[in-house]
Amino acid sequence: MNRVGSESVNALVRPIDGLSLPLAIRSNQSSVKLKGWKVAIKANIATTSPSKTLDQVNPVTSCASKVLSDYVSPFQATVANLIESNGGEILVDKANMDEFGMGSYNVHSIYGPVKNPRDLSRVSGGSSGGSAAAVASGSCRIALGTDTGGSVRLPASYCGVVGFKPSYGRFSRWGVVSYASSLDTVGILGKTVEDCEKVYDVLDWRDEKDPTSLAFNTFPQISREFKNITVGIPAHVPSILPELTLCLYSNMIEKLESKGVKIVPVTLDNHKHALGAYYTIASAEASSNLARFDGIRYGRLDENNSGPENVRNMFGDAVKKRIMLGSFVLGSNAYSSYFSQSQKIRRLIQISYNDIFKQAHPITPSINSARKNEKVDFILTPASSNIAPTLEKVAAGELVDEFMDDVMTVPASLAGLPALVVPSGFIAGNMGVGMQIIGQFGDDKRLFRIGQEME
Ligand code: GLN
Repeated sequence: MNRVGSESVNALVRPIDGLSLPLAIRSNQSSVKLKGWKVAIKANIATTSPSKTLDQVNPVTSCASKVLSDYVSPFQATVANLIESNGGEILVDKANMDEFGMGSYNVHSIYGPVKNPRDLSRVSGGSSGGSAAAVASGSCRIALGTDTGGSVRLPASYCGVVGFKPSYGRFSRWGVVSYASSLDTVGILGKTVEDCEKVYDVLDWRDEKDPTSLAFNTFPQISREFKNITVGIPAHVPSILPELTLCLYSNMIEKLESKGVKIVPVTLDNHKHALGAYYTIASAEASSNLARFDGIRYGRLDENNSGPENVRNMFGDAVKKRIMLGSFVLGSNAYSSYFSQSQKIRRLIQISYNDIFKQAHPITPSINSARKNEKVDFILTPASSNIAPTLEKVAAGELVDEFMDDVMTVPASLAGLPALVVPSGFIAGNMGVGMQIIGQFGDDKRLFRIGQEME
């Protein structure tokens, strides 16, 4: 792979006024778990100035939005505190992203698009494209991103790095700017499964400041032993893949089989409705969460200091579309036909996963079904159906094409399940597709075990 610096890929960004910041670091030398590891943090996760002597260095938690372009958080997110207290060195420059996490290609950003370090004519994937590109181009060892519907997994797949999304409630969301609160998770991007697992161990923390952060005893203790493992292949997936991706998928299946894993076909009901349900629910929650950017509670006034209506005008087009769609589906005329239908689909998708996993869901009870699916430990799919598209193609495309690229990632988000993406080889020059392994709720740790076998 041709290494290119993060500057040419636009992975790491600085305040929009152009002030040049040194790459300052702050670390706690007393703890060694991540000692000396450089960590990039996505621009929607709050970080604060590294030290009193470097007061002029203020990392902006801008969410890549004009609305927050000069926002300096007075406090730091729990996940960033955990990285630091374990010796990690947080970069002051923040990782570029799609505005407020809305997008799949990292082209909706005030800082401009993030290019794919493997091929500069292609997108990095979004919305955590800066995080993935910073890892892929060697600017940091690890990056934190956020994954609401695939924003860590899709860029990991496109940039050829490892990407992890935890069970919902596993990592603290305190200090993370909300997009769709019932789906938002903090995720990890790294070069190897082992590195991501080390960071996972640091971030696996019950945080009283986040009401959705779950207590440790919610999750069952599952043995990490790699024995009698069964992996399910969803019956609908191979038929929607182009030939080259199918080839990588088959290779991964064979690799796991050669390591003693049993492969079985599984049927996942209602998954064809996942994308529609996801975009309905995510937009509805976004329209409510983004109401706080009114220039009074949060958000800057424009140059003329005129009223809140102008603050709302500073949102980019992709964000405005979500707010309008979300407000529509929550309106009294559309609520029952769109929003509540989508919530029902979400529940049916959760049930369809519960139906096929050997482990019981620790929170939501299973419903006895007549289905004869063989039970599995994990489910394997590609993380994207294709390699990263070119920037040119994306610029000419419709927003709906962008939505389609989340088809592999949103089902696990709707069900709150953990998922790990591992690079699986090349199909076009330097470009490849990552393979996604999904586990039962709470089974995060074993994903790293099987992930090592997939590398
Ligand atoms: N592409 C999806 C969206 O725009 C996922 C985003 C995310 O996970 N933050 O909603």
